[in-house]
Amino acid sequence: MRARDLLHPRPEGLYCPPGDFYIDPVRAVERALITHGHSDHARPGHARVLATRETLDIMAIRCGADFAGSTQAVAMGEKIRLGDVTVGFHPAGHVLGSAQISVQHNGLRIVASGDYKRASDPTCAGFEVVPCDVFITEATFALPVFRHPDASQEIGKLLKSAQQFPERAHLVGAYALGKAQRVMRLLRDQGYDKPIYIHGAIARLSEYYQSQGVDLGNLQPATVEDGDRSDFAGAIVIAPSSAFADRWARRFPDPLAAFASGWMRIRQRAKQGGVELPLIISDHSDWDELTATIGETGAGEVWVTHGREEALVRWCELNGIAARPLHLVGYEDEGD
Ligand SMILES: [Zn+2]
Repeated sequence: MRARDLLHPRPEGLYCPPGDFYIDPVRAVERALITHGHSDHARPGHARVLATRETLDIMAIRCGADFAGSTQAVAMGEKIRLGDVTVGFHPAGHVLGSAQISVQHNGLRIVASGDYKRASDPTCAGFEVVPCDVFITEATFALPVFRHPDASQEIGKLLKSAQQFPERAHLVGAYALGKAQRVMRLLRDQGYDKPIYIHGAIARLSEYYQSQGVDLGNLQPATVEDGDRSDFAGAIVIAPSSAFADRWARRFPDPLAAFASGWMRIRQRAKQGGVELPLIISDHSDWDELTATIGETGAGEVWVTHGREEALVRWCELNGIAARPLHLVGYEDEGD
């Protein structure tokens, strides 16, 4: 069987004919395998969903308990037979519960990585290299200009600013699933033990992380109504960046806008967003991680999706690896 007969793009998403399932479909399908809980990958409405226990829990939190007709939790490393193929889930290091999905038929193995990173992240299991014939990689930050600095160094900038401007509230924009909790954990790892104030949109996911053994310390709701504005002087407040445009943000004393995202590498992007303190913290691989990972999988062929596909395809070709863009539609840059 050729690789493209084992998995290929359809309008609904990446489809496996011999197993009759889709990976991260963007439209409602009969059977979906989901890599992780970010909303462009984990959509409600499928008849049957296979994912890690954490991803299923996160989907229920975000989409409601009836997000699928039926669900099946798969443990990392467990092998499951679907039709004529064997599938397995392997840690992707992206957010809690995130997995790469391996699809095997006879001697041929394809690994769909979903989103992944190689940098250390104590809020989820670390990426595992799965040797394969075809590696499907994301390409969110697939340009040589993207080299993410050490995340703890970026958090150091936030702590320094909070110290320098004790009268200002530091509002940190962070994606609600994964990034927000990683920022909290990074703050704790640097000894920050004051309460961290959080926007309501982040509360349930943060609680869930805590219930799964990710210690985020003392989290308090960032509500100003009953308190004094000055309570938030010098405080660190974490919120989805969309909340910054709301009246909600103007309640804090002289708010200083920070944003934790790989896109903060682009100064123009920070400026346009009114970000005073850009923090380059990403849950996606940078250029070096992408190219190193491709090499480590030993894949003779690479399919590229989600982002700057052409640059990575070109890099593969220059390095003697067959490559092509997948042109999957419906996945957006998740503000990461
Ligand atoms: Zn993601």
